[in-house]
Amino acid sequence: MPRPRSFKQELVGVFGHPVAENPTQAMIEPAFADLGLDWRYLTVEVRPEGLGDAVRGARAMGWRGFNCTIPHKVRVIEFLDELTPAAEAIGAVNCVVNRDGHLLGDNTDGKGFVRSVAEVRPIAGASAFLIGAGGAARAIAVELALAGARGLTIANRSVDRAEALARHVTDRTGVPARAVPLVATARPDAGTDLLINATSVGLYPDVDADLGVDLAALGPDAVVCDVIPNPPRTRLIRAAEARGLAALDGLGMLVNQGAIGLKLWTGLDPRPAVMRRALEAIFDDGH
Ligand code: NDP
Repeated sequence: MPRPRSFKQELVGVFGHPVAENPTQAMIEPAFADLGLDWRYLTVEVRPEGLGDAVRGARAMGWRGFNCTIPHKVRVIEFLDELTPAAEAIGAVNCVVNRDGHLLGDNTDGKGFVRSVAEVRPIAGASAFLIGAGGAARAIAVELALAGARGLTIANRSVDRAEALARHVTDRTGVPARAVPLVATARPDAGTDLLINATSVGLYPDVDADLGVDLAALGPDAVVCDVIPNPPRTRLIRAAEARGLAALDGLGMLVNQGAIGLKLWTGLDPRPAVMRRALEAIFDDGH
């Protein structure tokens, strides 16, 4: 007798608005296939006024979890049962796990970033110059501090947001953080171990936009990181490579945050190379 076949797939996905350009499905589904899992990752347009219904729907349908992207990362918290300490400290959720109907909100953005950096240098004791004070910067700042960074300088166009983030990091973690305005004179000092662009400057289609940050003062062991996944080789990454510095592109962070989320949902470790290849096939053709 043939084994009875199941036609029921396990469901996860992403809720966002607008969401059509979110490439997560294209990297997660190949990872499911590679692991031999009959799971689906759906890209779902959810308007802000429909978020509560969408979360209740996911719960009712037994979704195993979901990602949240713009504009839902903060608002979704009110519909969840529990937050991880990191999501609580960051104040935003990008990954929800359904444990038998109990919805746990986590934030894998900063953890994905930290994992990418840890592949090339230790974070404990590192001094970071972080550009940006939005959602990505907030997740990165908190996770760097929790991972043992020695100190943070946060540079942002709106300096009041940098000041608020610096205060938040120090209050939450005890790690010293200071704010500076993002102006041409905002130079990382020679002791900087990590320089990170966590703004949207350089994102497609405005790929030639210049952050205006001078890399000349960085020492030879400094690592330059960009969160921009599209295009992966941003102007900042190219400038760092031209100086012979180690450079980490935004695909690494995107893959690692996805791999951490996939493990939370399935209990399995995907192969990051499978996920990265899927994204490269999309982004490396110029978009
Ligand atoms: P937010 O809107 O929350 O923050 C945007 C940040 O960019 C702010 O610090 C803002 O400064 C700054 N900024 C925007 N335009 C300019 C400009 N012209 N000059 C100087 N600074 C500018 O966005 P997110 O933090 O959510 O996302 C930021 C980037 O991170 C996006 O490009 C996104 O694609 C990327 N990202 C990548 C991830 C990955 O896995 N690789 C994961 C998450 C995000 P101000 O406060 O002054 O407005």
